[in-house]
Amino acid sequence: MYTFSKDDLEIRKQRKSRLSGNNPLAKKKIMFAAGFLTLVLLAGIWIHIVNSIAYAVTVNGKQVLICDNKEQAEQAVSKFLETKSEELGMAVTTEDRIEIKEIKVNKKDRILTEDIGQLLEQELNILVPGAAFIVNGEEKAVLADKKTAENLLERIKSHYTPVGKGITVVKVQLKENVEIAEKNVPVHKILDEEQAFQLLTVGAEKIVTHTVEKGESFWSIAKANNMSVKDLEEANPEYNPDKLQIGDEIKLVKMDPAIHVTTVAELTEVKKIPYGVTVENDSNMLRGKEKVKQSGKDGSKEFKYLVVKENGKEVDKQFISGTVLSEPVNKVVVRGTKLELASRDDGGSGSLRWPIRGSITSRFGYRHREFHTGLDIDGSTGDPVRAAEAGTVTYAGRDGNYGKIIRINHGNGIQTWYAHLSSYNVSSGQKVERGEIIGRVGSTGRSTGSHLHFEVRINGNPVNPLKYLD
Ligand SMILES: [Zn+2]
Repeated sequence: MYTFSKDDLEIRKQRKSRLSGNNPLAKKKIMFAAGFLTLVLLAGIWIHIVNSIAYAVTVNGKQVLICDNKEQAEQAVSKFLETKSEELGMAVTTEDRIEIKEIKVNKKDRILTEDIGQLLEQELNILVPGAAFIVNGEEKAVLADKKTAENLLERIKSHYTPVGKGITVVKVQLKENVEIAEKNVPVHKILDEEQAFQLLTVGAEKIVTHTVEKGESFWSIAKANNMSVKDLEEANPEYNPDKLQIGDEIKLVKMDPAIHVTTVAELTEVKKIPYGVTVENDSNMLRGKEKVKQSGKDGSKEFKYLVVKENGKEVDKQFISGTVLSEPVNKVVVRGTKLELASRDDGGSGSLRWPIRGSITSRFGYRHREFHTGLDIDGSTGDPVRAAEAGTVTYAGRDGNYGKIIRINHGNGIQTWYAHLSSYNVSSGQKVERGEIIGRVGSTGRSTGSHLHFEVRINGNPVNPLKYLD
């Protein structure tokens, strides 16, 4: 160590004066020596003032600070590491190469010791015990400790693990080889769990979002942010690009996940098998009446699928099985078909409707020697004639004395006939409703004036219509 302080000089001077005795020759020599020495000393002092020996602390070869002496330099480094340890509450280390070198410096270049900490802080890569998250051999994130890293890995797995009714997870596996290594890590690189989660699952520590404004689309947002529409869609799977709403928060990030979680899950869905309706005809029940014999009940069928997802996105869905859990029970309705051609006292819905309203000009039965097979009702030519009951037109045409006639079959052997018509509104084979206009009153065939000849026939035999009209 080379130091040259004023104190040293004083000691040397004293030593010299003690040496100087009473010898004159010696005194002369001493005088000369003293003069020379003074010169040397002056030079030394000048050198000492302008240039001096000092110690430089270098970090990886780069000079960071200069100290007056070696101890000071060593202390500066160890003090810094010590302070740092206290500050962080853990042992800190560095893998940086720290060297203390002897150098000659100009005094005005000296660096104040107060700056030591700050200078070292800038230059030293401070390492603390932590954990590295290694994906396929590459360090992807640095965390405070192994437990935090393990928690993070579990969080990523569970983030992508499907949950819900009917879902049985079969397998959760990482596509990449992930290792968690305990090691000394750079303190400034340590991420908290949230940052690391975003970094590993999205590809960015912090996600910038954009709030959708009026008139914006994925296309315009992508363009404004130098992104592709595809990237935007991938980063925002929850949004339908065609149905953007004002206020939607769009993530402006290119998805680049470091980790891919593949999940295989069995999905069970139970679907309803709707019941059908069966109609049973009951000839003992009046037409128009209905009765539920048996209420319907939906059945159910269980479908099983194997669903493979990668980072939450479905990549495969296979049908496994479909099992009927319960068969549907059809609703059974009993529908009356009996056309109750009873007298009006019965009041049943099966009673026939009057085809026209008018006075009865000739009743059913014998007229002198002739048997009148129907009922004559007075009416004017062109008056509408309505079907007495729902049924199917079996004939609409001319028939001898009947003139223009319409015959309607109501089922169960019951027919109604409408004769002497002036025109038809229906044709053969046509279905008609009760009360529907089927033709017009006229006087065709053997008729003396406009009226409707109305017949009711059961199994071909004419019966008295008055018994059945309501
Ligand atoms: Zn008649």
